[in-house]
Amino acid sequence: NAPLAEVDPEIAQVLQRELDRQRGYLEMIASENFVPVSVLESQGSVLTNKYAEGYPGRRYYGGCEEVDVAEELAIARAKALFGSEFANVQPHSGASANAAVLHAIARPGDTLLGLSLDHGGHLTHGMKINFSGRLYNIVAYGVNAETSLVDMDEVRALAIEHKPKVIIAGWSAYPRQLDFAAFRAIADEVGALLWVDMAHFAGLVAAGLHPSPVPHAHVVSSTVHKTIGGPRSGFILSNDAEIAKKINSAVFPGQQGGPLMHVIAAKATAFKLAATDAFKDRQARTLRGASILADRLSQQDVQDAGIKVRSGGTDVHLVLVDLRDAQIDGKQAEDLLHEIHITVNRNAVPNDPRPPMVTSGLRIGTPALATRGFGDEEFTEVADVIARALIGGADVEALRARVAVLADKFPLYPGLGQ
Ligand code: PLP
Repeated sequence: NAPLAEVDPEIAQVLQRELDRQRGYLEMIASENFVPVSVLESQGSVLTNKYAEGYPGRRYYGGCEEVDVAEELAIARAKALFGSEFANVQPHSGASANAAVLHAIARPGDTLLGLSLDHGGHLTHGMKINFSGRLYNIVAYGVNAETSLVDMDEVRALAIEHKPKVIIAGWSAYPRQLDFAAFRAIADEVGALLWVDMAHFAGLVAAGLHPSPVPHAHVVSSTVHKTIGGPRSGFILSNDAEIAKKINSAVFPGQQGGPLMHVIAAKATAFKLAATDAFKDRQARTLRGASILADRLSQQDVQDAGIKVRSGGTDVHLVLVDLRDAQIDGKQAEDLLHEIHITVNRNAVPNDPRPPMVTSGLRIGTPALATRGFGDEEFTEVADVIARALIGGADVEALRARVAVLADKFPLYPGLGQ
């Protein structure tokens, strides 16, 4: 039981260098966040040793009395946080939650209607070589070329034409709110089930700063690690007792074996924290940060460089940048921001003229910086740094120095590592 640094110095160095990277860079990947130390504690705990196939009180292994408490807490807190009658907190990830949802409510060959990947949907919503695209008959809706918004008339027309078994509302890259009631009305009209994947915006929902899909959807899936800022993992909610039963058997034994009890304990803590005023404040700063960024990137100097904010702004925690008319492409923009120590990801825009490894877009998110402590002042500063970098011709050293001031202002994980 020697410490990691002694047993495996190479891996210990990876951990330390990654901590240094997270401390020194400004994390603006929209799907990332920083978990609190309390969550790290559960994830690095002895709960990782425990097999607990089954559900609390109905396990296939002995010795589950303590992990049962953890899972009961996670379930009760998830239900209370989102106002749902049922929660399954066992999915290892967002993708495994989604696999279980489809396993529960559709059969291979059934038709699914979801947002296409290149318009902001997720792999598990029907991408060709993902299990969803291979097992199901996929019909995709897109966003309007002018407005960048989902067009509910198109969704309805496709639903009437193709009679899907499941309609999927949810996204990985979309800067606005979806109309869940309108989706449900369409689902009811064509006899489909509505599945909302709130992986990205679940933290905003928990804080009451985004409409909740729970009253409208037959089933809701989510991750815990994006806006919520908990451990990397997933969960599923429903208010329909029949679907709830199917979800439980789809997760286990349908999709998974032993649940990750150390992660489930960490989810319980994350849900507890998500019910606090500090969490609400963080989500509010997340939203304000994104709108400050969208405003700065809409100013004349940025527009003059051919750079546009898709949909003209944001209602959520991210901004999508359209570089189709700019000198700089998605890859160059990502690399340039990396050089000044800001981490973002390039992202295809609909009908992107550039190849998928290059792209003509950026997705920039504010959750991790809000967790780090950023408020209006710091978001205004980082937005200006990003704008000046993208316009071109700026002194990279000077921009990197401005980033360093911001990173130093909010030390990350003081007391951890070296
Ligand atoms: N659903 C949506 C909408 C996502 O954006 C993501 C992650 O990017 C997932 C599901 C999958 O989550 P995970 O990466 O944990 O499998």
